[in-house]
Amino acid sequence: MSGPPTHLASAPLALLSPYRTKPDPAPVKLDANESPWALPDAARRRLAEVLAEVPLHRYPDLLARDLKAALAERLGAKTEQLVLGVGSDEVIGVLMSAFGRAPGRVLYPAPSFVMYPITARVSGLEPVEVPLAEDWSLDVDAMKAAIAEARPNLIFLATPNNPTGNRFAPDALEAVVRAAPESLVVIDEAYVAFAGESLGPWVERYPNVGVMGTLSKVGLAGLRVGWIRMHPALVDEAEKARPPYNLNAYAQVAATTLLREMPDALDAQVARIVAERDRLQGALEGRGVAVSPSEANFVLARVDDAAAVHAHLLANGVQVRRFAGDPRLAHHLRITVGTPAETDALLAAWPT
Ligand code: PMP
Repeated sequence: MSGPPTHLASAPLALLSPYRTKPDPAPVKLDANESPWALPDAARRRLAEVLAEVPLHRYPDLLARDLKAALAERLGAKTEQLVLGVGSDEVIGVLMSAFGRAPGRVLYPAPSFVMYPITARVSGLEPVEVPLAEDWSLDVDAMKAAIAEARPNLIFLATPNNPTGNRFAPDALEAVVRAAPESLVVIDEAYVAFAGESLGPWVERYPNVGVMGTLSKVGLAGLRVGWIRMHPALVDEAEKARPPYNLNAYAQVAATTLLREMPDALDAQVARIVAERDRLQGALEGRGVAVSPSEANFVLARVDDAAAVHAHLLANGVQVRRFAGDPRLAHHLRITVGTPAETDALLAAWPT
């Protein structure tokens, strides 16, 4: 008997490492773009009541009908336009397995969300990166040229973008959508709550557009609820690739209850985060740190020695995100907006 048959791992896995975060987070955790606020006590008490009634001996609703109805109402969408996932992370995977027909390419601007290339590789698809312009705006000409050459199955555009924090101009996005009628263009609105208007209505206008969203950034990262809104014909295909019962019964009931009964609890958090973002940005700039204008729940700060600042903050109990593998982000740190006390702790720990 030789060892375990690790040679069976699919070839692209050799290029990857498991997604890991620090197992014991620092006291001030500003590295994962979560909300810093726990749900209000009244919301938690209400959840305890409804979760106690969930029949755990049964499978959850396969179609998550109540949650889809609640989400559709919040989004101004139709339920038949929605596919749900265990976070938008899973939605990305479902889209890649559903729409991965050869040539199987996935195009996105860079830097952007790390799960686009990772999930593409795991799905046996080829990632195609198009550099963002110097000011982190979309380079529309480069995008158009890359689309013509690669003929991608899927295009991912996160707006606001992670980790740069900026929104892409609507006319630039529209130019990409028009240049790619044969692709599914996924507009990833994970951070839209902090930016304003959703582009959800584009789904009605453009049959090749899907708009993806998540509850993770507005205070419910632990629930793992994400979705895409797109043409019902695309939904029918994606539903074939969605793992059955993917959203567990607790997540369905908790998200439905919060969306129906307490949407204000989530919206109030967003307003506090936006106000604190502006204070954080101003305070860093006050210390001579350049910060990219952000419309998300984090800021991207420019520092000379990212490794040293990152280590210094960590030694002082503050965890932020560094991007060691990306040369264009070698001098940047991404800092999630925390509570006012957490901002104070970050500023106190900032090297002088
Ligand atoms: N898209 C973007 C741009 C993100 O930054 C994130 C979270 N880091 C996600 C999608 C995934 O979020 P979730 O799986 O929690 O819904």
